[in-house]
Amino acid sequence: MKPSDNLSPHFALSEFLRGGSMEGVSSDIIVNLRMLSKKLEQIRELLGGHPITITSGFRTAAHNSSIKTAAKGSMHLYGLAADFVVSGLEPPQVQAKLMAVKDKLGICVEITHGNWTHIDLRPSCIVFENLGNREYKTLSLAEIKEFIRKHGAVA
Ligand SMILES: [Zn+2]
Repeated sequence: MKPSDNLSPHFALSEFLRGGSMEGVSSDIIVNLRMLSKKLEQIRELLGGHPITITSGFRTAAHNSSIKTAAKGSMHLYGLAADFVVSGLEPPQVQAKLMAVKDKLGICVEITHGNWTHIDLRPSCIVFENLGNREYKTLSLAEIKEFIRKHGAVA
Protein backbone atom coordinates (compact mmCIF):
# COMPACT_ATOMS: atom_id res chain seq x y z
CA MET A 1 0.00 0.00 0.00
CA LYS A 2 1.24 3.50 -0.90
CA PRO A 3 0.54 6.69 1.07
CA SER A 4 -1.54 8.06 -1.81
CA ASP A 5 -3.91 5.06 -1.70
CA ASN A 6 -7.37 5.63 -0.28
CA LEU A 7 -8.42 3.87 2.93
CA SER A 8 -12.03 4.91 2.37
CA PRO A 9 -13.84 7.24 -0.08
CA HIS A 10 -12.77 10.51 1.60
CA PHE A 11 -9.53 9.56 3.34
CA ALA A 12 -6.14 8.64 1.92
CA LEU A 13 -3.53 6.76 3.94
CA SER A 14 -1.17 9.77 3.69
CA GLU A 15 -3.58 11.90 5.73
CA PHE A 16 -2.93 9.65 8.75
CA LEU A 17 0.85 9.70 8.34
CA ARG A 18 3.24 12.32 9.60
CA GLY A 19 4.72 13.99 6.53
CA GLY A 20 3.46 11.05 4.48
CA SER A 21 6.10 8.76 6.05
CA MET A 22 5.48 5.00 6.15
CA GLU A 23 7.91 4.62 9.09
CA GLY A 24 6.47 2.14 11.61
CA VAL A 25 3.39 1.41 9.51
CA SER A 26 2.88 -2.37 9.71
CA SER A 27 0.05 -4.32 8.08
CA ASP A 28 -1.71 -4.35 11.49
CA ILE A 29 -1.55 -0.56 11.56
CA ILE A 30 -3.05 -0.43 8.07
CA VAL A 31 -5.94 -2.65 9.22
CA ASN A 32 -6.55 -0.31 12.17
CA LEU A 33 -6.32 2.84 10.03
CA ARG A 34 -8.81 1.36 7.60
CA MET A 35 -11.24 0.74 10.48
CA LEU A 36 -10.61 4.29 11.72
CA SER A 37 -11.22 5.87 8.31
CA LYS A 38 -14.52 3.97 8.01
CA LYS A 39 -15.52 5.42 11.36
CA LEU A 40 -14.53 8.89 10.13
CA GLU A 41 -16.73 8.40 7.05
CA GLN A 42 -19.68 7.74 9.40
CA ILE A 43 -18.74 10.81 11.43
CA ARG A 44 -18.45 12.94 8.27
CA GLU A 45 -21.93 11.92 7.19
CA LEU A 46 -23.39 12.38 10.66
CA LEU A 47 -21.98 15.92 10.88
CA GLY A 48 -23.60 16.92 7.61
CA GLY A 49 -20.88 16.07 5.11
CA HIS A 50 -18.51 18.89 6.02
CA PRO A 51 -14.92 18.12 4.97
CA ILE A 52 -12.78 16.63 7.73
CA THR A 53 -9.08 17.42 7.93
CA ILE A 54 -6.93 14.97 9.89
CA THR A 55 -4.32 16.81 11.97
CA SER A 56 -2.80 13.70 13.59
CA GLY A 57 -3.33 10.02 12.90
CA PHE A 58 -0.74 7.29 13.34
CA ARG A 59 2.27 8.21 15.49
CA THR A 60 5.52 6.36 16.03
CA ALA A 61 6.58 5.99 19.68
CA ALA A 62 9.31 8.60 19.16
CA HIS A 63 6.90 11.10 17.65
CA ASN A 64 4.26 10.50 20.34
CA SER A 65 6.70 11.02 23.21
CA SER A 66 7.91 14.25 21.60
CA ILE A 67 4.39 15.70 21.89
CA LYS A 68 4.07 17.32 25.29
CA THR A 69 0.29 16.94 25.43
CA ALA A 70 0.15 13.33 24.18
CA ALA A 71 -0.90 10.45 26.43
CA LYS A 72 1.77 7.80 27.07
CA GLY A 73 -0.23 4.81 25.87
CA SER A 74 -1.99 6.85 23.19
CA MET A 75 -4.27 5.08 20.76
CA HIS A 76 -2.43 7.06 18.05
CA LEU A 77 0.44 4.55 18.48
CA TYR A 78 -1.81 1.79 17.13
CA GLY A 79 -3.46 3.75 14.34
CA LEU A 80 -6.67 3.71 16.38
CA ALA A 81 -6.99 7.46 17.00
CA ALA A 82 -7.50 10.58 14.93
CA ASP A 83 -7.27 14.27 15.69
CA PHE A 84 -9.22 16.33 13.19
CA VAL A 85 -11.00 19.56 12.39
CA VAL A 86 -14.39 19.79 10.72
CA SER A 87 -14.80 22.78 8.45
CA GLY A 88 -17.66 25.00 9.55
CA LEU A 89 -17.98 23.50 13.03
CA GLU A 90 -16.27 24.46 16.29
CA PRO A 91 -14.59 21.61 18.24
CA PRO A 92 -17.03 21.75 21.20
CA GLN A 93 -19.96 21.42 18.76
CA VAL A 94 -18.29 18.44 17.08
CA GLN A 95 -17.47 16.85 20.44
CA ALA A 96 -21.02 17.31 21.75
CA LYS A 97 -22.52 15.78 18.61
CA LEU A 98 -20.15 12.82 18.80
CA MET A 99 -20.79 12.29 22.51
CA ALA A 100 -24.46 11.88 21.74
CA VAL A 101 -23.73 8.95 19.39
CA LYS A 102 -20.53 7.51 20.88
CA ASP A 103 -22.10 4.18 21.87
CA LYS A 104 -23.80 3.74 18.51
CA LEU A 105 -20.56 4.55 16.65
CA GLY A 106 -18.29 2.74 19.11
CA ILE A 107 -15.97 5.67 19.69
CA CYS A 108 -14.27 7.37 22.59
CA VAL A 109 -14.43 11.19 22.51
CA GLU A 110 -12.08 13.70 24.10
CA ILE A 111 -12.83 17.23 25.27
CA THR A 112 -9.53 18.60 24.03
CA HIS A 113 -9.86 22.28 25.00
CA GLY A 114 -7.92 22.85 21.79
CA ASN A 115 -8.79 23.64 18.19
CA TRP A 116 -9.18 19.96 17.28
CA THR A 117 -11.29 16.92 18.17
CA HIS A 118 -9.83 13.55 19.16
CA ILE A 119 -11.67 10.28 18.78
CA ASP A 120 -10.31 6.77 19.28
CA LEU A 121 -11.44 3.18 19.03
CA ARG A 122 -10.49 1.84 22.44
CA PRO A 123 -12.96 -0.85 23.58
CA SER A 124 -14.82 1.44 26.02
CA CYS A 125 -16.90 4.30 24.61
CA ILE A 126 -15.96 6.84 27.25
CA VAL A 127 -15.70 10.62 27.16
CA PHE A 128 -12.59 12.05 28.74
CA GLU A 129 -11.39 15.57 29.31
CA ASN A 130 -7.86 16.75 28.72
CA LEU A 131 -6.82 18.62 31.87
CA GLY A 132 -3.31 19.41 30.58
CA ASN A 133 0.01 18.05 31.88
CA ARG A 134 -0.95 14.61 30.49
CA GLU A 135 -3.79 14.40 32.98
CA TYR A 136 -7.21 13.22 31.97
CA LYS A 137 -10.58 12.88 33.63
CA THR A 138 -13.34 10.49 32.60
CA LEU A 139 -16.71 12.23 32.48
CA SER A 140 -19.75 10.91 34.30
CA LEU A 141 -23.01 10.45 32.41
CA ALA A 142 -24.37 13.62 34.05
CA GLU A 143 -21.32 15.61 32.91
CA ILE A 144 -21.66 14.25 29.37
CA LYS A 145 -25.32 15.26 29.28
CA GLU A 146 -24.43 18.73 30.54
CA PHE A 147 -21.76 19.17 27.82
CA ILE A 148 -24.21 18.04 25.12
CA ARG A 149 -26.87 20.43 26.48
CA LYS A 150 -24.38 23.29 26.51
CA HIS A 151 -22.85 22.72 23.06
CA GLY A 152 -25.07 20.29 21.23
CA ALA A 153 -28.01 22.49 20.34
CA VAL A 154 -26.17 24.41 17.63
CA ALA A 155 -26.68 22.95 14.16
ZN1 LIG B 1 -5.44 12.60 19.59
